[in-house]
Amino acid sequence: MSGISREDILRRVRDDDIQFIRMQFTDIFGQMKNVAVTASQIQRALDNQIMMDGSSIAGFVRIEESDQYLWPDLDTFAVLPWRPQYGKVARLICDVHNPDGTPFAGDPRSVLKRALRRVQDLGLVFNVGPELEFFLFQTDEEGNPIARTSDAAGYFDLGPLDHGEGTRREICLNLEQMGMEIEASHHEAAAGQHEIDLKYTGALQAADNIMTFKLAVKTLAQKNGLHATFMPKPIQGAAGSGMHVNMSLFRDGENIFYDPGDRLQLSPLAYQFIAGLLAHVRGLCAVTNPLVNSYKRLGFGYEAPRQLAWSAGNRSALIRIPTPRGSATRVELRCPDPACNPYLALAACLEAGLDGVRRKLVPPEAIQENLYTREDPALECLPSTLADAVAALEGDSVITGALGEHVTRHYVAGKLQECREYQAQVSQWELDRYLVTC
Ligand code: GLU
Ligand code: MG
Repeated sequence: MSGISREDILRRVRDDDIQFIRMQFTDIFGQMKNVAVTASQIQRALDNQIMMDGSSIAGFVRIEESDQYLWPDLDTFAVLPWRPQYGKVARLICDVHNPDGTPFAGDPRSVLKRALRRVQDLGLVFNVGPELEFFLFQTDEEGNPIARTSDAAGYFDLGPLDHGEGTRREICLNLEQMGMEIEASHHEAAAGQHEIDLKYTGALQAADNIMTFKLAVKTLAQKNGLHATFMPKPIQGAAGSGMHVNMSLFRDGENIFYDPGDRLQLSPLAYQFIAGLLAHVRGLCAVTNPLVNSYKRLGFGYEAPRQLAWSAGNRSALIRIPTPRGSATRVELRCPDPACNPYLALAACLEAGLDGVRRKLVPPEAIQENLYTREDPALECLPSTLADAVAALEGDSVITGALGEHVTRHYVAGKLQECREYQAQVSQWELDRYLVTC
């Protein structure tokens, strides 16, 4: 909901039987966190008085300076449709502030807001439409998730083959009740895999929507006895889950990536934005593809990009320009996956694109060939491991500048630890391959 006033919220809490308000925020690794306050505390909540211990949140602050305050963004007020409708639960997405009232530098939402202020200073609006893929898996007798599905459906299949259509329907209806616009939903290529596409909005709302989306999907799947996962590559030998990000820049309500006079109907600014993304994509991968597992998706044969290239129509390119033009003209980046922290990912993508605009970069020729099936030796590749991606991030001052010093330091430290833990594993593949032959 947009443009809601403090008085509107107080009235709704009083008149609509709202008993709890969840104050939500996101840690730097993309986990949503929240504290619930009862309706009696709504004034305090709206006065930015709800406090939390930042030292208990990944990547936030040390114990010596741990008091932090949640400042709710009133525009995000919404009732959670999947919670009981008597004694309702509403949520407010919050910014995290220091005790002196300054925004906390480690709050991912403030990182995105900072990047958006820069684009606003240029008189521009950054719009984003995300396409989220995920798996619906079964649980075992004890209710623990297992990477197995009874569904054997494929791309665009429908029931009774598609065992997830009931859950997908509930997800869409619940999110619409929260004011989100859903453009499409369908079964994806792998068994048990689904996709739901969100209508584009301003980037801050898009990042908030992605967080809400993931919560809704997981909650509604659980209600139906299923386990939803946004893990990028849960099944070896099957398609992984991506989060294609469709981006555009608007000025005075006009899409400025569109230029009817150009051969591809793209403006010089659109070409520069594409070139900026290509120049920084290796540096931003650790943010858009944050897990050891993310790099198992970015391989051949499963419609996920591997090499640095762009194209007007060809889906096998890392960056694609979908067919619609006019106000729907957009640049689609196809490497991100839904495990990313959307606030950090969108901030990094925006700064990458803007750097191309600032430096008036020119992209290489668009590719024609199918890169899903064969590597082009002339093209650079995305990082092939999380460790490579972290090294590329550390070497890219535009991306570390977008994240800021605090987030960069904690994010890199957390990801390097993840790499070390992974490196120390002895996998089944190694045992199968080496136990007998060595
Ligand atoms: N699942 C594919 C990926 O990993 C994308 C499929 C599609 O084109 O929607 O990115
Ligand atoms: Mg898809």
